[in-house]
Amino acid sequence: MKVAVIGGGIIGLSSAYYLHEAGFEVTVIDKNDFSNNCSYGNAGYVCPSHFVPLATPGIVKQGLKWMWNSRSPFYVQPRLDMSLIKWGLKFMQIATPAHVENSAIPLRDIAILSKKMYEEWNAIPGFSFAYEQKGLLEIFQTDAGAEKCKHLVEKAHELGLTDTLLLNYDQLQAMEPQTKLNAKGAVLFNCDAHLYPNLLMNRLFNLLKDRGVHFVKDTEVVGFEKKGKEITGIKTNKEFYATDAVVMATGSWSRELAAQLDLDILLMPGRGYSITLENSPYKINYPAVLVEGRAALTPMDGNKIRFGGTMEITSTKTPPRMNRVEGLLQAVKGFYPEFDIPVPAIEKVWYGFRPCSADGLPYLGKTGKWNNLVVATGHSMVGLSLGAGTGKLVSELIQDKQPSMDIRPFNPDRFN
Ligand SMILES: Cc1cc2nc3c(=O)[nH]c(=O)nc-3n(C[C@H](O)[C@H](O)[C@H](O)COP(=O)(O)OP(=O)(O)OC[C@H]3O[C@@H](n4cnc5c(N)ncnc54)[C@H](O)[C@@H]3O)c2cc1C
Repeated sequence: MKVAVIGGGIIGLSSAYYLHEAGFEVTVIDKNDFSNNCSYGNAGYVCPSHFVPLATPGIVKQGLKWMWNSRSPFYVQPRLDMSLIKWGLKFMQIATPAHVENSAIPLRDIAILSKKMYEEWNAIPGFSFAYEQKGLLEIFQTDAGAEKCKHLVEKAHELGLTDTLLLNYDQLQAMEPQTKLNAKGAVLFNCDAHLYPNLLMNRLFNLLKDRGVHFVKDTEVVGFEKKGKEITGIKTNKEFYATDAVVMATGSWSRELAAQLDLDILLMPGRGYSITLENSPYKINYPAVLVEGRAALTPMDGNKIRFGGTMEITSTKTPPRMNRVEGLLQAVKGFYPEFDIPVPAIEKVWYGFRPCSADGLPYLGKTGKWNNLVVATGHSMVGLSLGAGTGKLVSELIQDKQPSMDIRPFNPDRFN
């Protein structure tokens, strides 16, 4: 049986992995050449700690304040676009304390499943990707940040992530003896891991190729051949591909493609930027999220450090904004005062588009309209973390097996 996976990011490749393992003939189609997409330049966190979705009451308030500051970490580019308006209204409507509460268990469960899958992959000979289980720091500078983190620790304990600790300044500084920190304290999430995304993506691509998965590069899917409730073929800007089942893993471009199947997927691209020091003169032991700075940094693959962040709800066609990169580096300097990182030339800055659903939860599952389609997109800030687990769930759905976890909160039809 043939399965076409559209999109060669971490969601598409992970799906291909488990579909191939289940015995399907798998073809992955991408409009690019499988060497860059959002799954490459991200911060590499595999993070059960991220059980709070993007849509929270706090981010709506903060976003409105930040809208006029072009360096701010969260920015919605105002424009008259019906899809943005629909997405924004739903985002604001759903960002309630109850939504945050209801999202915690599904986000935790899919992250834990995914982490287990990454651990299995990392043990496959020749398929290591600098995976490290060290934990993750969330560093705060203000009383408000401390208060927020105290609640986060309580919630983590309630969710069974009991190895989560609140550190005071001295305890935090002792963990990073090689550099000075400007902070009040931190949360240490011992449950989290990190990896080098570029290595993961390259090695996963090569492994799948060696195992016999077909890859079709530089080919854009533009439509579908349909018969009743079945999709029978994929139309591209080049050839036509007959298929028995389809996985839509097209990241930030999923809304437009889903519309070809009469599906209304509320989704916006959320651009983020990263800079990687390949041979860093600065040394850190732990990945860290800077709470008030809304930035992330990760030591990876030996001597590299990657700095990433900012959320810019925009179109995939707008050029990068360097003032956002300046804002990111300024935030890092505010927490790590010894880090003097010059703003790099624009071609040295990586950026990618997070597929942001309207409620911060993935769209993962079958739809009412099509029997042989699985939608797997909208993973927002945590697509890398949830990637391997999503792939496993996709394969179970295509096989009509009982999924490894309750995926009802991820129903792609939930806003229709
Ligand atoms: C700065 C930054 C830091 C981040 N840090 C983390 C982190 O630490 N941990 C974490 O879990 N997540 C992180 N993320 C988020 C994560 O990177 C994304 O959620 C994830 O990469 C999304 O994967 P994807 O496979 O859905 O999309 P993508 O990786 O974007 O892949 C989608 C693919 O679909 C292809 N495609 C689209 N439309 C078509 C079409 N019509 N025809 C053919 N091909 C098509 C595209 O070319 C692309 O290759 C970060 C993101 C950013 C920007």
